[in-house]
Amino acid sequence: MAGYGTNFIIVGAGTAGCVLARRLSEDPHARVTLMEVGGPASDPDIADPAKWPFFAGSAVDWGFRTTPQENTDGRIHDWPRGRVMGGTSSINAMAHVRGHPSDFDHWAANGCTGWGFTDLLPYFIRSETSAYGSSPHHGNCGPLRLMQPDDPHPLTRCYMAAAEELGCIPTDEHNGACMTGPTLNTLTIVNGKRLSAADAYLEPARSRENLEIIDQCLVDKLLLDQSNRCRGVVYQQEGKRHELHTDGAVILSCGAIGSPQVLLRSGVGPADELQELGIDITADIPGVGKNLHDHLLSGGNVYLSKNPVPPTRYQHSESLLYVDRESDCAAPEMMFACVVLPVTTEQFTSPEPGAAYTIMYGVTAPRSRGTVRLQSTEPDAMPLIDPNYLSDAYDREVYVEALDFARNLGASSAFDEWCEREFLPGPGVTSLADKQAFNTRAAYTHHHPVGTCKMGTGTNAVVSSDLAVSGTENLYVIDGSVIPKITTGPINAAIVAIAERASDLLLGRQFLTAEIP
Ligand SMILES: Cc1cc2nc3c(=O)[nH]c(=O)nc-3n(C[C@H](O)[C@H](O)[C@H](O)COP(=O)(O)OP(=O)(O)OC[C@H]3O[C@@H](n4cnc5c(N)ncnc54)[C@H](O)[C@@H]3O)c2cc1C
Repeated sequence: MAGYGTNFIIVGAGTAGCVLARRLSEDPHARVTLMEVGGPASDPDIADPAKWPFFAGSAVDWGFRTTPQENTDGRIHDWPRGRVMGGTSSINAMAHVRGHPSDFDHWAANGCTGWGFTDLLPYFIRSETSAYGSSPHHGNCGPLRLMQPDDPHPLTRCYMAAAEELGCIPTDEHNGACMTGPTLNTLTIVNGKRLSAADAYLEPARSRENLEIIDQCLVDKLLLDQSNRCRGVVYQQEGKRHELHTDGAVILSCGAIGSPQVLLRSGVGPADELQELGIDITADIPGVGKNLHDHLLSGGNVYLSKNPVPPTRYQHSESLLYVDRESDCAAPEMMFACVVLPVTTEQFTSPEPGAAYTIMYGVTAPRSRGTVRLQSTEPDAMPLIDPNYLSDAYDREVYVEALDFARNLGASSAFDEWCEREFLPGPGVTSLADKQAFNTRAAYTHHHPVGTCKMGTGTNAVVSSDLAVSGTENLYVIDGSVIPKITTGPINAAIVAIAERASDLLLGRQFLTAEIP
């Protein structure tokens, strides 16, 4: 890390931004300013784990929507993202899954030196206080308190038994020795309340004298001098334009949709796109906004229930199941979740809550790649988000296989007490063509966009292994956008670990090490 002093401006108080604000301000010589467009998480529903599905379109959601998706019947998909302290960790489903070790080793083997599983394990451990604290996989004094449901829903138990019936070997938890097999979800819920990154990381650090938090400010662009050294940011607050200057580093933690937008508005991105919008080119970096990808989920394989389905005591999805498709594949390629509500897309009529349950199915390593682009230079204009869902044949193939596996789970005798009949796709959907057609209508975001400021080397790389933006100085991106290839599990835990390790990188501290158990 070349001498920028110990002053930091962090833009975005989401998952990564909250981790960074706390860790960087632990250094008494550092001065940290955290900037966030959203306000405090004052809506009491944010704390209620069961309310997370209802934030889309609310005041704490950016309200992003995709462009019409050619391979999902021309549909436009809602893409909620948190616009509030804690960012998307304040509206997410609270599942804490690190990913498969081979995910990170793949990053390291592809130019992300220092980001393999051995490098990240000590940071996963540092981030958590886990029920498995005595295990070498886990930590017992980190900010994120993790739990597993102690009183799972009866349908969750049937679902895990169904997986065993299909030959899946149970595992203790997703973040230990083995990710595959039925097990209870690991959740960031404490005493029945959501624990966001803001709750876990920011609140305990809020009163530090070297940490300033500026909320309700929209960062428009970066101040870059003639040698492309970042000198600060331009932002809007209460309808006025302001500048904040620094002799230190500026860190973008605006997420996979927000960070590329700030770079593009600042003239850092593909020259042709910037020219079209009349933006002066600061650094021609073709990869900004490219490589967008997301786990594909489904809404869903729905079953009518014989009995009224009791409400969840947690967040509706108390177990995840990762399944290998081919035995020689490094990481499981399919995931399943039993949701104790009916979950459908806008394409289908949904049964009432309490009358049905859903087996959601997904593709863990999608190969389709899309883009985030600007449609205007205005900082509050909606971007053009094109995930290009199901454009790759592999994704379409695994998605059908996952639907078949979900239906086998649903048909298992383990559900005999509950299953009245399959409601979706329904008995008429049997041919490959019918299943593919159903999937185009059932495709649904898993809410895990990544990759738009890709870390590494080569095509579409935006940041190097030290997370510095190419062609600039004193400018970093640290959030889900740097993930070069999506992890097998939900991404929040990986983003926490990235920010944990990045804080040591920025402060020039010695990296932690851990033995691989
Ligand atoms: C409905 C839903 C359910 C999910 N469930 C799970 C789950 O169960 N498990 C899991 O692991 N992951 C889940 N995720 C995904 C996960 O929570 C996010 O990927 C993660 O929080 C992203 O972290 P981040 O730091 O990259 O960005 P964010 O947390 O999105 O943070 C970005 C922050 O920057 C702010 N910002 C953006 N632009 C600007 C600007 N120009 N000026 C000022 N501020 C700005 C935003 O308001 C936001 O606060 C879910 C996501 C959603 C939407």
